[in-house]
Amino acid sequence: MAEGKGFWNRILHVDLSQGNIRVESPGEVFFRTYIGGGCLGAYYLLKYAPPGCDPLSGENVLVLAPSVATGSPVPGTGRHSAVAKSPLTGGIAASEAGGYWGMELKRAGFDAVVITGRAEYPVYLWITDGRCEIRDARPYWGKETGEVQELIREELGDGLIQVLLIGPAGEKGVRFANLASGTKNFHGRGGLGAVMGAKNLKAVAVRGHQEVRFADKEGLIALARDFAQHFRENANLSTLSEYGTAGYVLPQNEVGGLPTRNFQSGSFEGAEAISGERLKETYLIGQEGCYACPVRCKRVVASEEPYRVDPLYGGPEYETLAALGSYLGIDDLGAIIKMNELCNRYGLDSISLGGALAWAMECVEKGIIDRAEVGMDLVFGSAEAAMAMVEKIVAREGFGDILAEGAWRAARRYGKKALDLVVHAKGQEFPAHEPRLKRSLALAYATVPKGADHCSSEHDVAIAPDASDAIFQAISPLGILERLPLTSLNAPKVRFYYITQQMFSLYDTLAICLFVCPPIRYFSFDQLVELVNAATGWNTSLLELFWVGERKTNLCRAFNAREGIDAASEALPPRMYEPLRGGPTDGLRVDREEFEKAMALYFEMAGWTPKGVPTRGKLEALGLGWVAEELKQTRAL
Ligand code: SF4
Repeated sequence: MAEGKGFWNRILHVDLSQGNIRVESPGEVFFRTYIGGGCLGAYYLLKYAPPGCDPLSGENVLVLAPSVATGSPVPGTGRHSAVAKSPLTGGIAASEAGGYWGMELKRAGFDAVVITGRAEYPVYLWITDGRCEIRDARPYWGKETGEVQELIREELGDGLIQVLLIGPAGEKGVRFANLASGTKNFHGRGGLGAVMGAKNLKAVAVRGHQEVRFADKEGLIALARDFAQHFRENANLSTLSEYGTAGYVLPQNEVGGLPTRNFQSGSFEGAEAISGERLKETYLIGQEGCYACPVRCKRVVASEEPYRVDPLYGGPEYETLAALGSYLGIDDLGAIIKMNELCNRYGLDSISLGGALAWAMECVEKGIIDRAEVGMDLVFGSAEAAMAMVEKIVAREGFGDILAEGAWRAARRYGKKALDLVVHAKGQEFPAHEPRLKRSLALAYATVPKGADHCSSEHDVAIAPDASDAIFQAISPLGILERLPLTSLNAPKVRFYYITQQMFSLYDTLAICLFVCPPIRYFSFDQLVELVNAATGWNTSLLELFWVGERKTNLCRAFNAREGIDAASEALPPRMYEPLRGGPTDGLRVDREEFEKAMALYFEMAGWTPKGVPTRGKLEALGLGWVAEELKQTRAL
């Protein structure tokens, strides 16, 4: 079947058990329906992963997918999604990474890679110009990410090969192992590195020389030019360019939203010392970015003393500074950048690592876990112990072996008191945005199919009473016309969450960076529509794209329902009902009754059952009748 504009009509399927490779051409209607990224990934996961499969087995399916916009010159379109069943949550893991890999896969002539089965021994995939080979990775097993990237480039004789790979953490089945796109970009959340490790798959190397054909190249160039000329006029993007997301540390702390000591407080006395501003004055040596993006928000740091930090592994983002800093009561920036480097070398998600360490520190301090069992003085503020525990987690040694299971699984060994201190949703540790302050995130963290996530909907600040008129104007095409306090969780706030969740779901489907997307940053909703039309030649609209976003949300939700994850598993952790202590948010907590009402209303808005399962009517409206059948057969509906 013929290729389209913006897509090759070529999905690469690799069965590692049989060593089979085939190419599927599903046609234009398929691409217009599922587009790419997380939506396309969720489609193949539902189709191919058997119900109830063990995520750490060959039965799991790993989908790597850019979109119809990837490879265009428009900033933010250089990303791709990775989707599989999560070993951390048991539901869907869908995580996006920046860099160059997605663009390179498109140039190699493929729209996505669907990987099934498990190889007999460690292998890697080599994909180039319409071809794919399964190659021996035994010499690379056990090695760190940076070394393997170099060795694969040497073996294949091309320094421009983009390598998606796992480190030792993924090989050892650490449930929060990440999947690295090179050494500076990551599919951090959900344990996708462990999924690849369980498949005996060390890496997916790609290199392409084919130009992706788009419908209106001039239109795409005009969008890119407009962005490059004006993005600095947007205050958010100009700060992002100067400090990276590390620039959020101080503003978050000022409003009492910087999670501190396992989310006991929103104010950290050491915030200044771990801020983006301090990073710039001390360890920063450069900044980098993703394909075609002039923002270059990625940090590059280096240090010789007190810890040697290799700039090959980039630098910490806001989430990492918080998770390995304020979560742990650590204000030693040198130690944090070293731990960030270790995460990137070994292939660990820094957010879950910080969440697990913070939980363990509180348990040790409260005498719930014995210090002798931990084998070191793992208490708040101890950078030395935190760093030593990273090594033990990756080696799966002693207490590190327990923490490698993630905080929620680890806590089950120690009883209710320990479980009550885990700050998680569906087993995934919370990211560094405080739901007791930005209250729609309480609903988001609990109900997002992939577990607690801060990139799945717009944050409450966009429509806060003091939000800028420009942002408020930018969000109005979605019919969001009312300003609301950060801490409200009333019906209009639930509606704000529902609507923006579908748009963020679309961003993941287009594999576009949310830092260039409306309403807070650069492009308008009209320009997003323009982008898709210029890439594909379709006559799409904001309405059709909104449906695509909803389609992805419902596919993910349906997958979870099929795996037995529904409203019953979507609780907030007890800590969210406890008051924050100290600073501007002192005393703030989630009201249980208000939260439960909001969750029930959200399910009704979405057209789901009271258990949060998509109804047949909703699925048929989205053109997903086949999913309703699947849910019926597995008795999820
Ligand atoms: S804003 Fe940052 S993360 Fe987003 S595409 Fe640009 S460089 Fe990458």
